[in-house]
Amino acid sequence: MNQPNIQNLLIQNVSNLKGVGVKIKKLLKKKKIEKISDLLWNLPQSYTDRSNIQTLDNLEIGKITTIRTKVIKYNFPRIRNLPYKVICQDERGEIDIAFFNAREGYIRKILPLNAMVIISGKINFYKKKYQIINPAYVLPVEQEDYINKIIPRYSLSEGLTEKIYRKLIEQVLEKITNLDEWHDKKILEKIGNANWAESIFYLHEKYGNDINSKYYKRLAYDEILSNLLVLSQVRKRIKKIKKKNKQFENIFASKLIKNFNFSLTNDQKKVIKEINIDLKSDFKMFRILQGDVGSGKTIVSLIVAANVIKSGFQVSMMAPTEILVKQHYELAKKVFKSTGININCLTGKTNPKEKKIIQESLVKGNINFLIGTHALFQKDIIFKNLGLIIIDEQHKFGVKQRIELSNKGGKNCDILLMSATPIPRTLVMTVYGDMDVSRIKKKPINRKNIITLSKPEEKIDEILLFIKKQIQIGNQIFWVCPLIEESKILDYSAAKKKYEFLSKKFVNMVGLIHGSLKKDEKNDILKKFLNKKINVLVSTTIIEVGIDFPNANVIVIENSNKFGLSQLHQLRGRIGRGNVQGTCLLLYKKNLSENAKKRIRILKSSDDGFYIAEEDMKLRGFGDILGYQQSGIKDFKLADPIHHEDLFKIAENNIKDIESNEDNFKKYEFLLKLFDKADIINQVNFQKN
Ligand code: ADP
Ligand code: MG
Repeated sequence: MNQPNIQNLLIQNVSNLKGVGVKIKKLLKKKKIEKISDLLWNLPQSYTDRSNIQTLDNLEIGKITTIRTKVIKYNFPRIRNLPYKVICQDERGEIDIAFFNAREGYIRKILPLNAMVIISGKINFYKKKYQIINPAYVLPVEQEDYINKIIPRYSLSEGLTEKIYRKLIEQVLEKITNLDEWHDKKILEKIGNANWAESIFYLHEKYGNDINSKYYKRLAYDEILSNLLVLSQVRKRIKKIKKKNKQFENIFASKLIKNFNFSLTNDQKKVIKEINIDLKSDFKMFRILQGDVGSGKTIVSLIVAANVIKSGFQVSMMAPTEILVKQHYELAKKVFKSTGININCLTGKTNPKEKKIIQESLVKGNINFLIGTHALFQKDIIFKNLGLIIIDEQHKFGVKQRIELSNKGGKNCDILLMSATPIPRTLVMTVYGDMDVSRIKKKPINRKNIITLSKPEEKIDEILLFIKKQIQIGNQIFWVCPLIEESKILDYSAAKKKYEFLSKKFVNMVGLIHGSLKKDEKNDILKKFLNKKINVLVSTTIIEVGIDFPNANVIVIENSNKFGLSQLHQLRGRIGRGNVQGTCLLLYKKNLSENAKKRIRILKSSDDGFYIAEEDMKLRGFGDILGYQQSGIKDFKLADPIHHEDLFKIAENNIKDIESNEDNFKKYEFLLKLFDKADIINQVNFQKN
């Protein structure tokens, strides 16, 4: 096969391989294997040594063993549920090969009477006889070499056997032998000098699961590169979109700022400047504003919105929950008071009459600023001239959603995302490489730092006393019972128990919120807490990001050792938003691990989300960090941001070379297809509007 054909084969559906029918295809799909190349990323997890052929007098119960034996007799019972048995012999002894759920014809075919066969499987002992149940391999003796060796073992789903998987992998390996390398020598040297096909062979034929081996790293590099490359291409395309620029004087915003009882921090000023340059340019803005919880992103977004409105465009702002929308709406009304800016608010609960009025005034351009939940993006919500979309705290926005958003707004519409999820430095490009990034690093100085304490759970009396005092002085308390098991029911039961316990101590003062409640029920309880109808809110970890609870100044976190650092930090950020001293109380059971102690120490010593994210990554691995689940990083099949930090850096530099000319880029188009990225780029819409 020539090169394009081999490449092409790798991105074909698995059904093009021998032995893949409807059933196997389904089983593979369960393991997210659809293209032929997907088979390759499922690396062997260990190996089975089938290389020691034993005689039948030398068997060890429980051990996976290969035998060379003669088929003597069938024993096919007519009673259901009993296994079919085949009795086999060598000069030294006898063994039963038992089959559950097999067809008679099949057994006769693979084990013909009097034939010499090779069988491999685990040795059992049943009714005084050796036995192998459902052997992994049964082959004619001529094919001994195929079994008599160390065989890689894959993590497979039920029904997909080692034998089947191996057959598939072998078909692919056979075909890629002559596949050419796509990286330049220079790059190859930097990543360990392992060629692609060679690496695939090594990892599959030998048991090569070591993620620091040069072979593994070679393959991981391709994945990282394809990831960065697609984001970079998206960014390039979006930045080519010409728009009608925004024209405004900064004086208007300055006047607004005078109405606040604080002045902007330097970081806030800096990011506003960055955004203003984008707004005034002839090209579409595609920017993310990163800032820790409480760093003051909302005010920034309102000022930016004011500028866009001043230049004659409409603005819409989306937040993930109704309560957050309401809060932004109230704040916006206050900030824009007596400016003549017309603000409205739209959620899933807005009644149809009201919605109709909003629709009409939007089309006429009478509403300047619409704040809402996802309801903003319904088809029948049409703006006269939308100039900016702001998205607040929406973790679920991966690159695909971001492109969709850009397309939706049309070419004159700038895009600003805001996020409090701190991403470690090495990963910023990987997560946000399609966007420009603005960062607020320092929080407003007048914010009181939260005191962070840790206490063993046995000291509950002390803790209750503390809570009682806090209630007396008018403070409110979050009491978080974490989700430890991956089960909503268990998660709920811990919180419920605590709720019942606390309700007895503080009668009529406690509420409970958890993941199995309906949206409306959740909102009702949050509102009650917000309006100070209750003093203590027991919850699982679902306290919404971004909501201001000005009176909640205490957060108690149970089992705090089970949380990652970033998550603890985010939880802690829910309090201390007013100007009263906040307290974060980390409860733990006895016998903290070294790691847990370290986490508590870091948390006590720092209030900087970015620093904490870096430390979290070092301690726990990136997969656990809050917010990453949806950010797309966890979609990596091979790459690991902690172990492969160097590869991310090399890839960042490599991108510039690759994109420096067309021909260079063409070489990598296959790589994008290999990792399912090619389509993403094409979704960017240049022409619309
Ligand atoms: P986040 O970045 O988490 O969205 P917010 O915008 O909600 O943060 O701001 C948190 C709190 O800090 C708000 O109560 C806000 O009024 C206040 N704040 C914002 N900017 C400043 C500032 N420059 N000085 C003092 N307080 C500020
Ligand atoms: Mg916010």
